[in-house]
Amino acid sequence: MQTNHHKILTANVHHLDQHLLSKYEERGGYQAIRKVLKQTPEEVIQEVKASGLRGRGGAGFPTGMKWGFVPKNLGKPIYLLNNADESEPGTFKDRLLMERDPHLCIEGMMIAAWALGANWSCLYIRGEYGYPAVRMEQAIEEAYKKGYLGKNIFGTTFSLDIVVHRGAGAYICGEETGLIESLEGNKGQPRLKPPFPAVVGLYGCPTVVNNTETLATLPWIILNGASAYAKIGTEKSAGTKLFSASGHINKPGVYEVDLGYSLLDFINNECGGIRGGKKLKAVIPGGSSVQVLRADELEGVKLDYESIKGAGSMLGSGGFMVMDESTDMVEACLNLQHFYSHESCGQCTPCREGANWVQKIVGRIYDGAGTYSDIPLLKSVTSQIAGHTICPFGDALVTPVLSFIEKFPEEFNTRIAQANGIPTFNTGEELSSQVLDAVSENAKNVAANV
Ligand code: SF4
Repeated sequence: MQTNHHKILTANVHHLDQHLLSKYEERGGYQAIRKVLKQTPEEVIQEVKASGLRGRGGAGFPTGMKWGFVPKNLGKPIYLLNNADESEPGTFKDRLLMERDPHLCIEGMMIAAWALGANWSCLYIRGEYGYPAVRMEQAIEEAYKKGYLGKNIFGTTFSLDIVVHRGAGAYICGEETGLIESLEGNKGQPRLKPPFPAVVGLYGCPTVVNNTETLATLPWIILNGASAYAKIGTEKSAGTKLFSASGHINKPGVYEVDLGYSLLDFINNECGGIRGGKKLKAVIPGGSSVQVLRADELEGVKLDYESIKGAGSMLGSGGFMVMDESTDMVEACLNLQHFYSHESCGQCTPCREGANWVQKIVGRIYDGAGTYSDIPLLKSVTSQIAGHTICPFGDALVTPVLSFIEKFPEEFNTRIAQANGIPTFNTGEELSSQVLDAVSENAKNVAANV
């Protein structure tokens, strides 16, 4: 049992005065940026590449490689955007950093800006995050007053302005091109890619969008070295990761653990086990857009990108949702589909119309009005959404419904069977065969009546 996880991001979040610049400095803050400013941007990019740091917003793309895509010779400004539009259901990790250690977020932005050659940066924060936004604004103001932001920082040639931009509550503005559109004052509707933001981003200029947790990791990497960071975690999933744990557990909260940690140990140790002594039923390990895993699939699974992928899901944003045996999976699925239907930006037809269809079909199954053709219909509708949309939201919205049906068919079948006068059965297998019989009987009746 591993309990001594490295504290790269959360070492100081328990200090109630950590948001003050003076206290942040007392505890070692703003030393990494001083060190970085003595290095060339290329050296910093190499250091971040060597650390193995991967984006913590969900995609897990290597951060240093992403920075390497930015052309430096276009004669245009380069922008760094801190994506704090944390809106994925079950994900609330960046909020902790911004509320408790805002200068860590700022110092991370400064390091990235130096490496990229950016002199203007924006923290794009979800509109509902009022308190974290105020904390960040206050910290930025303090940094300006002390001369840590603005022109010629620490007497060097480096100048950086940071602004806070509050979103208006749209989930899709967490998608990087939706974020850029919103920041430009347009509707937050994603752009087709390519071109990618690294080349054509904000106002047509090279732009890097990094997640808040990703950026907040940089000061530690700079101070301790890439190899020290790469030694933590696993070979391909280096470092630590924040998980926001919620659901039927005794200790919901944000936890920082070394990547490669046992998923079941995480539930039993950090999360305090299942609430009320009930049995574990399922886990959504990385935010609502990833596949649900049944309890019997979790043995030996580790909290890292490769292991969770091997189990059939994704690490995603680290939004770790735990469900106990009392959970109605049709209801849980409907809850998620309501979210996706509400949050479609409406730009492409398969997503705009399909999300609503999926919600309605799951809703009628839940309401006891499902029909035998609803599961095939859901599969047909979702097949016309995934891969046919401008942004990954289309794929994200079909993932939960397909995985819930795949992993818990008996619960969907029971609802449909009961709605059609078939009594409840004990197992999904029995029920499926009964439903199939009923479907074929139904088909015969329909044929006979034509
Ligand atoms: Fe908008 Fe959905 Fe199309 Fe993404 S997939 S651009 S959210 S309509």
